[in-house]
Amino acid sequence: MTNKLVFATGNPGKLREAREILGAAFEVLSPADAGVSGEAEETGSTFKENSLLKAQYLFDRCGLACFADDSGLEVDDLGGAPGIYSARYASDHNFADNIDRVLTELTQLGSVPSAPGTFPGKARFRCVATLILPGREPVFFDGAVEGRIARRRCGAGGFGYDPVFVADAYPDRTIAELPEDVKNGISHRGVALRKMAAWLAEQF
Ligand code: IMP
Repeated sequence: MTNKLVFATGNPGKLREAREILGAAFEVLSPADAGVSGEAEETGSTFKENSLLKAQYLFDRCGLACFADDSGLEVDDLGGAPGIYSARYASDHNFADNIDRVLTELTQLGSVPSAPGTFPGKARFRCVATLILPGREPVFFDGAVEGRIARRRCGAGGFGYDPVFVADAYPDRTIAELPEDVKNGISHRGVALRKMAAWLAEQF
């Protein structure tokens, strides 16, 4: 079983979650652990294309088993935005500004918040993970978690849009108020990476 995997991310939140999701059966290395610096330009137009670009960039430089995660938030009332632009919706990797832009746009739409403090339209986090093993074609795994956008931030856990995302499974709290293992149990990343682990277990 391939148990050493290099994760193409510079996001400490994603790295922490991937380690927790994949558990003791896997050793998840950062690009720096594998001696790789820099990262792929995300020039794709889908989560899948960007996920492949990130995994390929890393694999081409270290030759080890690699995976990448491209993920983001889709808000139906914003036509699916921020989508693939989630990390840079207002400004690059500035989570506070990016949340503000989503809340401002939903408020400007006149979308009336409903109890318990969420905007009525649906939203979801999506993730596409790409796994590249030496000598094999890339393999893709997807995951999603459905929910709604909270009117204001709550909670200090997780990262990114977690303080304003309320998952359908826990309708009275944001994901940032959930313990990390509970978030990982329902999250888009949890779903995708558990599919990847199951696929790896079948192969080896
Ligand atoms: P990526 O690094 O291009 O995949 O950007 C993903 C962006 O989507 C992050 O910077 C966050 O803004 C957002 N995102 C992805 N997954 C999560 C999550 O689990 N919680 C909150 N925000 C997330």
